[in-house]
Amino acid sequence: MDFRLTARQQELKGTARRLTDLVMKYEEDCEENNGLPPQAHDAIRVAVLDSGLQAVNMPAEWGGAGLSIFEQAVVQQELGRLTGALWDMVWRPANALRFCTPEQRERFLVPVIRGERRDCYAVTEPEAGSDPQNLSTTATRTSGGHWSLDGEKWFVTVGDHADFLIVLAAAGDERAPTLFLVDKDTPGVEMTRVPRFMHTFVYEHPEFTFTDVRVPDGAVLGGIGEGYDITRSWFTEERLMIAARTIGAAERALELAREWAVERRQFGSRIADFQLIQGMLADCAVDIAVNRAYTHQVAWEVTEGTVDRKTAHAKAAIAKLAASEASGRVVDRCLQIFGGRGYDRSYPVERLYRELRVDRIWEGTSEIQRLIVAGELIKRGTGVLQLPAA
Ligand SMILES: Cc1cc2nc3c(=O)[nH]c(=O)nc-3n(C[C@H](O)[C@H](O)[C@H](O)COP(=O)(O)OP(=O)(O)OC[C@H]3O[C@@H](n4cnc5c(N)ncnc54)[C@H](O)[C@@H]3O)c2cc1C
Repeated sequence: MDFRLTARQQELKGTARRLTDLVMKYEEDCEENNGLPPQAHDAIRVAVLDSGLQAVNMPAEWGGAGLSIFEQAVVQQELGRLTGALWDMVWRPANALRFCTPEQRERFLVPVIRGERRDCYAVTEPEAGSDPQNLSTTATRTSGGHWSLDGEKWFVTVGDHADFLIVLAAAGDERAPTLFLVDKDTPGVEMTRVPRFMHTFVYEHPEFTFTDVRVPDGAVLGGIGEGYDITRSWFTEERLMIAARTIGAAERALELAREWAVERRQFGSRIADFQLIQGMLADCAVDIAVNRAYTHQVAWEVTEGTVDRKTAHAKAAIAKLAASEASGRVVDRCLQIFGGRGYDRSYPVERLYRELRVDRIWEGTSEIQRLIVAGELIKRGTGVLQLPAA
């Protein structure tokens, strides 16, 4: 076994860190103004293209960075250091867009890869969250050979900034779960509410309604009835990227808390000399070290193809569950080490504390991850815990 990063992985990590450091300069502006002005978006877009880290999950022949899952995890871990969800400005198109036909690819995916358009994914509904099969949004065949979409979608991340949506709807009399590519300016698409959430996110998560939204057959992404399978097939990657980002966030929080602990003096000593503070620092290091190792292991296994699809799915659920919960504990302790300052929004640990909370909710809640892991254990045994043999 060799756990060292290769020269290429090390170089990618360095490139991602340089981009992260550059984007970090916008954090306070984002926090104070709940977002960034257009000039900042333009500047960051240029920086992303210069770094070559645009669309890390898309093949180089389409203009993406064409990175392996392990390499993507290395990059996401660095970007996860950012607050304000500025990591999301380093665009990673929805993996579902790989199912584009050649025509759809030219119109939707390639411009997203270039940073000229932006996608968003609309699955969740008021009555369909953890159970997306309960969806109410419908796609009905019209006499003109089009589809008419009707329904409501919630929590659409980047919905304010995106110019098209990938919408999951029950198509036809069979209610076949199907994804549709819908330009946001199509008549009948309305952004109805932009809720304020706990975190300050550079983009919003608006709610949309769809009222007799007419789209052609060419808007179907990946085939009628393929909607769930396409969405589910990317959970492994998405969850591993969440695990990687939360670990990056926890690393930054611990670096800041450690620096603070050795500088801050109370009762005539550095607070780092108090054993209760030392205990918190040590627990943070343990949470990070163990979860980083496991996330790297699973990302490596997926890259090398040493695991079957179901095992990879369960291992990614373990990684997402463990890393998001451990990183949440880390930022909580780091905030505590900062005392009252840790509660001040101008301190990154405070922002990380608010921001990491959602990682236990989106892309499947912690409870859903536990159900996946338990289901795998019960149906297929404890093989999910095995390391690959040579
Ligand atoms: C900031 C943010 C951004 C988001 N972005 C997007 C997006 O871009 N696109 C999108 O489609 N969705 C998005 N979501 C939605 C997100 O994926 C859902 O919130 C999540 O899947 C949970 O669904 P829910 O909120 O309806 O909760 P519910 O499903 O109603 O769950 C409520 C509680 O019940 C628990 N629960 C549910 N079922 C079970 C069960 N079987 N056993 C045990 N416990 C259970 C849950 O774990 C949770 O604790 C986003 C959410 C947030 C908060």
